Amino acid sequence: MLCLHTITTKPWSTEQCIERYAKAGVEGITFWRYNLEGRDPAKVGQQAREAGLDIVSLCRGGFFPASSPEARQQAIDDNRRCIEQAHALGAPLIVLVCGAVPGQPLEESRKQIAEGIAAVLPEAEAAGVKLGIEPLHPMYADDRSAVNTMRQANDICDALGSPESVGIAADVYHIWWDPELQHQIEFTAAQKRLFAFHICDWKTPTTDFLNDRGLMGEGCIPVRQISDWVDATGFKGHREVEIFSNRYWAMDQDEWLAKIQQAYQQLYT
Ligand code: ZN
Repeated sequence: MLCLHTITTKPWSTEQCIERYAKAGVEGITFWRYNLEGRDPAKVGQQAREAGLDIVSLCRGGFFPASSPEARQQAIDDNRRCIEQAHALGAPLIVLVCGAVPGQPLEESRKQIAEGIAAVLPEAEAAGVKLGIEPLHPMYADDRSAVNTMRQANDICDALGSPESVGIAADVYHIWWDPELQHQIEFTAAQKRLFAFHICDWKTPTTDFLNDRGLMGEGCIPVRQISDWVDATGFKGHREVEIFSNRYWAMDQDEWLAKIQQAYQQLYT
């Protein structure tokens, strides 16, 4: 089942994403929080469901580490708002980009991440919203996430006592290089904490650390192989296409969407 992250078609408004995805036969949608600005999340959720789309998740919460307790509290408060939004929207999952502070030891940031998740866990559980830790590629360890491997994400889940609402969002862009990947995917699924699967590709050369992701098939990630490992665990979730790309955002977005669907079909035939 194909799901699109709205940021993949960033030039489109929330309403355009819902309408165009549904028309194109895309099954699922993952909203980004900017989609909810100036809107009633419950209404956005209703629009998406009426259009026939599954709401897969809300991106993103996290960014827990900070150098002062006040800033860490602000992050916790913001994550509580995010949980309320996800609940109103009808999104079963929040993807966490966990955060990091340049110059602060990564171990300390990971400790603050675990504390931050623990602080919002009661609200998440009460709202029926799961939290998916997304390990980010180590190139983002400076200021976006101190969680860079599936193993580190699993360690945090374990340290929290393996609550049912905390798991992992696996994104091929961030973890394709990991020599433990197959094992970690199997382990994560066996712990019932493989919550989401994101796909795109890694271009060579990559010209922008953030906004030059590739479409499946145009890079070096063995997307199908990783996807087969995920399927082999019995994972029944959507395959979520999440592509930040200045190049593709500059295209006509209807053509871009058709290109994504074509790449997706090629990948899975
Ligand atoms: Zn992702």
